[in-house]
Formats: sequence, C-alpha cells, structure tokens
Amino acid sequence: MGSLKHSLIFIVVFAVFAHCQEVESDTVTVEEDIGKSRDGSRTDDEVVSREEEAIKLDGLSVAQMKELQEKAEKHTFQAEVDRMMKLIINSLYKNKEIFLRELISNASDALDKIRFLSLTDNSALKDMPELSIRIKADKDNHVLHVTDTGIGMTKEDLIKNLGTIAKSGTSEFLKKMGEASSPQETSDLIGQFGVGFYSSFLVADKVVVTSKHNNDEQYIWESDASTFSVVLDPRGNTLNRGTTVSLHLKEEAHEYLEAHRIKDLIKKYSQFINFPIYLWESKLETVDEPDDVAEEPKSEEVEDEDGKVEDESEPKKKKVEKTIWDWVLTNESKPIWTKKPSEVQESDYFEFYRSFTKDSESPLAYSHFTAEGEVTFNSILYIPRTSPVDMFQNYGKKYEFIKMFVRRVFITDNFEDMVPKYLSFLRGVVDSDDLPLNVSRETLQQHKLLKVIKKKLVRKALDMIKKLNEEDYKTFWKEYSTNMKLGTMEDPSNRTRLAKLLRFYSSNSATEFTSLAEYVERMKEKQEHIYFIAGTSRLEVERSPFVERLLKKGYEVLYLVEAVDEYCIQSLPEFEGKKFQNAAKEGLKLDESEKAKEKREELVKEFEPMMNWLKDEALKDKIEKVVITERLTTSPCALVASSFGWSGNMERIMKSQAYQKANDANNQFYANQKKTLEINPYHPLIKELRRRVDESMQDETTKDLAVVLFETATLRSGYSVADSAEFAGRIERMLRLSLKVPLDEQIEEVEDLEDAEDLEEKDEDVEDEDDKSSENIKDEHEAHRAEDEL
Ligand code: ADP
Repeated sequence: MGSLKHSLIFIVVFAVFAHCQEVESDTVTVEEDIGKSRDGSRTDDEVVSREEEAIKLDGLSVAQMKELQEKAEKHTFQAEVDRMMKLIINSLYKNKEIFLRELISNASDALDKIRFLSLTDNSALKDMPELSIRIKADKDNHVLHVTDTGIGMTKEDLIKNLGTIAKSGTSEFLKKMGEASSPQETSDLIGQFGVGFYSSFLVADKVVVTSKHNNDEQYIWESDASTFSVVLDPRGNTLNRGTTVSLHLKEEAHEYLEAHRIKDLIKKYSQFINFPIYLWESKLETVDEPDDVAEEPKSEEVEDEDGKVEDESEPKKKKVEKTIWDWVLTNESKPIWTKKPSEVQESDYFEFYRSFTKDSESPLAYSHFTAEGEVTFNSILYIPRTSPVDMFQNYGKKYEFIKMFVRRVFITDNFEDMVPKYLSFLRGVVDSDDLPLNVSRETLQQHKLLKVIKKKLVRKALDMIKKLNEEDYKTFWKEYSTNMKLGTMEDPSNRTRLAKLLRFYSSNSATEFTSLAEYVERMKEKQEHIYFIAGTSRLEVERSPFVERLLKKGYEVLYLVEAVDEYCIQSLPEFEGKKFQNAAKEGLKLDESEKAKEKREELVKEFEPMMNWLKDEALKDKIEKVVITERLTTSPCALVASSFGWSGNMERIMKSQAYQKANDANNQFYANQKKTLEINPYHPLIKELRRRVDESMQDETTKDLAVVLFETATLRSGYSVADSAEFAGRIERMLRLSLKVPLDEQIEEVEDLEDAEDLEEKDEDVEDEDDKSSENIKDEHEAHRAEDEL
C-alpha cells in the first residue's frame, strides 16, 4: 500500500512538474503588479488557489470578505437611480457595448479633473504621477477591471455620485425615455443625455468600485443593482490615487473579456480620449533562452570538471515561443485638433464628434481651423444634425457644448457664454497656447483673450453655416431657424451676417423658403420696401385683408408665420438698403401719383362726416383715427397698428408670453396703443354705412352696424375683441334684423314643470327636449347663414 501511495504521489508530482514545464515553456510574466492573476507561469498550486479566488475579492480571503460584508454600510439607491437603471437595462439591452465607452469617459473626466487641479496644487499628483487608464480582463473570474489614476472618490463621493443623480435634466430624461417609442429614439435620447456609470449593469450583475481620493482613505463600493454598500478597504491604499471599476460580468457578456473585442470597442468609441488607454494583453514572442532543459548528455557537456555551470561567454541558447503579458497602448492620444486639417480624414472628424457628443448621427457640418493674430488657437466646431431636445427649455442656461483646453489640458466645458445663446447648439473644442494655465477657472473666464476667442468662434460658426450647400441648409434651417432669428435680435454686431442667413416663406412660392437677398433680387423696379405680413399660418396671412392689394399689384410679400419672425424683422432696420414695411401697419402707400392723390382727397371729403362720426361717436375710445385705405380690395375695413404700436400678430404673441411681466410699462404702452381703422371706400357695406350716417347720426342700428364692422375687422386683422359678450349681443341684434325678428320680441317663457311623479311623463319631457335641441340646431344653421350674408 505504502509503495503504491508513493508511486501515486510520484505520478502526481511528475505530472505537475511536466505541466509546469509545458506552461513555463510558452508563458512568462513580465509584470508583477495587477497582472498577477493573469500570470501565465502557473503551477498547479496556483490553479487550485485560483479556483478559490473566484469567490475572493481582489486579494481578500473568503473569511475577510464575509467580515467585510458585515461591516459595510448598506444604502438604497435614490428612486431616480432605480428608474434610470431599469430603463437603461430595458432599453439598451441590444446596445450593451456602450458600457465601456461610458466607463472610459468617466475615467477620462476624472483624469481631466486631477490634471486641472494639479495646475494650482503642486502636490495633487504626488502619490501617483501617471495619468492613464488601464483595462484588464480576468478571464478566470469573468471580471473586467477599468482603472484610472484620476481624481478618485472619497467615501462621501462614492455614496453621493454612485447613489444619486444630481443632474437637473434627469427627470426630464426619464420622462422622455418613458415616452420614446422606437429603439432609435431611445438611443438618440441616451446619446443626448449620456447614461454614464449605471450602464455597467447592462453587462455585470455585480459592480465593485474601489477608489482613492487624495483627501480620504481607499473605499470599496459594491452593488448588485438593487442596493449598494460602502466599506473602508482592508487592503489599505493600493491605488495611490484613482478608481478601479470591476465588473463581474454576466454570462452573456463574457465576450467583453476578449482582448480583440475590447480593442475594437476602444477604437470604435474611445479613440479620441486624450489619455493613454492600456490593455493588459498577451502576445506570442520568440526569444532566446538558456538551454537549461536540454537533454542529459548535452548538459554534461556544459559542465566543467569541477562541476561548475557553463561558461557565461558561451551560453547554450534555444529559441522558445513565449506568451508575454504586458500593458499595450490601444489609442493614439495626440489630440485631433492639433493636427493639420490635411492630415485628418473626414471619417476621423465624424468619429471624434461621436466620441465626445455620443450622438449616433454624423454632424451636419464641421470646421477645423487655426485662428491667428491677437490670440492663436486651434478649434474644431460642429453643427449637430438634430438640435438638442431641450434647446429652448434651457436656452442660455446650458453651456456644456464647447470644450475648452489650454495647451492640451482640458479646462472646462462649462464656461458661460463661450458662444452666444443662439449658437449654443454648436459642439466642439477650443485649445489655445496663449492663455495662462495656472490660474483659476474664474480668472480664466475673465481673461481678455477669451473675449477675442469668443468673437472669432462666432464668426467662424456663421461662416460655416453660410457655406452649407442648399440641401444641408434646408436641414439646418429646419433645426435651427429659431436660433438664427433670435440671433438676429440678440447679436447686433453680427446682425448683417445673420440677416443673410434668414429664410422666410413668401408669396413667391407655396413650398420654398426665400432668402432676403433673393427677395430683393425679385423686387419690382420702383419698389422701395420689403413687404411682410405676420400671422399664425400661411392660410391666415395669405387671406389677410392687408396683402390683398399688394398681391394684386404683383408685389411679393414675406409671410411671417412663426411667433418669433416679426420680432426678428423688427430688429432689422433694413436689408441691402431696403427698409421693411409691415403690410399690417399704417404708412403703406402704393400709388404716389398726382392723380391718385387727388382721388384720395376727393374721397376723404366725401367720407369726412362718416369718418368723424366713427371716431367721435360710434367708435369713441376704441380707435385713434379713421383713414381711407388703398390696400383693401375685398374687405370693408381693417384695423392697423400705428407705426409704433403692435401689429395684431405681435399683440397676440405678447399676450400669450408666459414670461411677460404683467405690469411691464413698455408692454402696456404698446398694447394700449389705439389702432387706426382703415376703410375701403369702394366696399358696398362702407358705402351703405356712409349713406345711413349721412341720413342720421343718431340711429342705434347704424351704430351697431359700425361697431360690428369694427369688431369683425379687429378679428380679421389678428387682434382680439375687448368684450366678447357685448360683441355677441350686437351680432344677435343684427341677426334679428336680418331675420326680421323684432328687436323687442321676448324669449318664450318655459313653464316650470312640476316634479313629475309619473315616469311616463318624464319620458315625454325628455322627448320634448330632444325636439327642442334639434330645433336649436336648425336655428343655429339659420344664424350661420345670416352671419355669412351679413
Ligand atoms: P456622469 O459621468 O454623466 O456625471 P455617471 O453616472 O457616469 O454620470 O457618474 C456619476 C458621477 O460619479 C460622476 O459625475 C463622477 O463624479 C463620479 N464618477 C464616476 N466614475 C468616476 C471615476 N472613474 N472617477 C471619479 N469619479 C467618477
């Protein structure tokens, strides 16, 4: 038995030895640190111990782990985080791979932060001078580690940053995600908001974050996506500074342990990260090795008589293939904007854009330039193909679109008005050597050269927009027309440039926009003004009484149908020397000939009594004055704002502006401006009114007729009537007249029916009422017809 036991042990030992030799012959480790578990030179002891390691955490025994779990502080996630994680997991399951992009992006942000801090604090990098990202796959335990030497997180940071969502836009994001109906929409939303750290749970069922911040000890955060815990790291400070995110991968995500898969993802999503990303990788290498496992006779040959080892000058070598494990650089960290445009492919610009915007679409346009002069800087600017979903909710409040670098060091993407509000959709980078590095963000923000940079950025951006081809411009206009119009109002120094970019609908085409330059080109020979009319829809403005005459005479009229259009035009004093003329404001004269003047004077004389009566009697306090108009053909009259007042469209906008301050004196002034009533002397209703006024100025019906005409004009011209009840009363009186119902005929009294006990009677009542309502409908039809006739 004993010898059998011995020989069994011998066999095992021999097998282990042979296995060792075999492994050793093709694997060797060149790095001892974090790479230890990937060490190729295995012994069976190690193989056995590795199995144990599967239930250990990075060098802690099972017992230590248990103790740790007991000690750890347990926390629950904020409700929003819970919802966010569920949404991410449900909506991104087909797009799991983005987790790596998110982790690398967080790592890069953390590195940016410590580098920025080190500009003003010499000791910040003391414990760990290197700035890098290292990724390592532990295939045996199915764990993927992403380590950065960034700023790290204190215990408090871990709880706050990885347990709550601080960003204000998150609730809106969650709402939108809930409403998104297609995967594309979901992924666009995620692109715009960024999902961050929690995407880890797409691929991992357990996530462990180990972090060391300069101001705290090293802590371990751990979660299975339902709750999380935080505990002081019993291993002490192993990171020196930074963070390791360890993902315990789900079975279906084991592909992310493969080096080629990780490399592809880095190339796809993270190639423009400005810090080196290393991957712990193996490669086969043929090396010369001392031939210490040579056959016996050979080894005898190398021994000298004293039995000493071989002569060093003539070592016996043999070639062996070894698997070398090493950190391999996987990205090129030279920033793309520092290259010459001629060295950069279009696809690189697109990839770069996607890398920092997370936009799944390629940009609509980009501009890569070096500005020189007072200040030198490199920049790449992009116009996203679609505008941010919340552009106007956050108009002027969000700045995270232009990344500011000084000498390749990321400073901030949070400078206020890096570009003016109306250009806040621009994405890009700016990097200057001329700005100081070792000053605070606030001081830098005030730096005079920054003003120069900002000015140049605007010019370059407007230039890029101007150069868009026709088709791209259409896309641009669909997405950013409001921005350009607001820009025209907000940026006087670039107004002329912006005016050239504006597009409006006009009577020239039913479908296409026109630029102001094109309008001017089409102007009639003696036409002095650019005519426009504003309203809520094309149909409305086309039918507006004010454009009738202009169109009939062949003038082109711009149709301003967006709320902001009229403001925009008002802020433009002129375009190419041509002033703008609102067709809905007084001052529009079409025929300046002597004959026309004479005719006008004649008409004024004829209509004077009626006009005075209207102003002083029938429409007293309602209008400023009455004038005879030239611009109406089919309407009897129209209401126009005085040149300084608001047009109907503007008044409507101002009344509906949620942000309008009720007592804004300026607004009150304009809103209370009395209007001018323009009458069409050729219209039969006006002619009849004049006849009646000439007959008697006291007749109540004539007064009613005048007021109804005024009120209808008020509505037609885009204003609202002041007292709708009185308006309705007058209309009803007119209806009675046209239907020949005496004005004093009383409304039929309906008997008060006693409470009926009898059910049958009740039913009859209901029938009666039914009859009545259908009669009512008949009545209404009549009324409509009468109104039309009127
Ligand atoms: P976001 O990065 O969009 O702010 P995340 O959910 O990805 O959102 O991360 C939340 C916060 O956690 C980050 O803002 C950051 O403060 C912190 N954080 C995440 N990863 C790291 C890291 N590797 N190093 C330091 N802090 C980090």
